[in-house]
Amino acid sequence: MIRCPTCGNDVVYSPVPSLYFCLEKMLGENITISVECKAWVPEDAPAADLLKMTERIEKLALELRL
Ligand SMILES: [Zn+2]
Repeated sequence: MIRCPTCGNDVVYSPVPSLYFCLEKMLGENITISVECKAWVPEDAPAADLLKMTERIEKLALELRL
């Protein structure tokens, strides 16, 4: 089980492999992330997952014109 390192909540949300958010609630498609807890990446995250995450962030950056 993956727990939030900040508050110990065991209900987490992973939009991409190895990137987790502390989940406050989920109503159908609506997800509420706990703003008090930072997103985290587990220490044992596989390198392949981290690369996927980088690719997604790159795409997002293009969409947002960062
Ligand atoms: Zn938390």
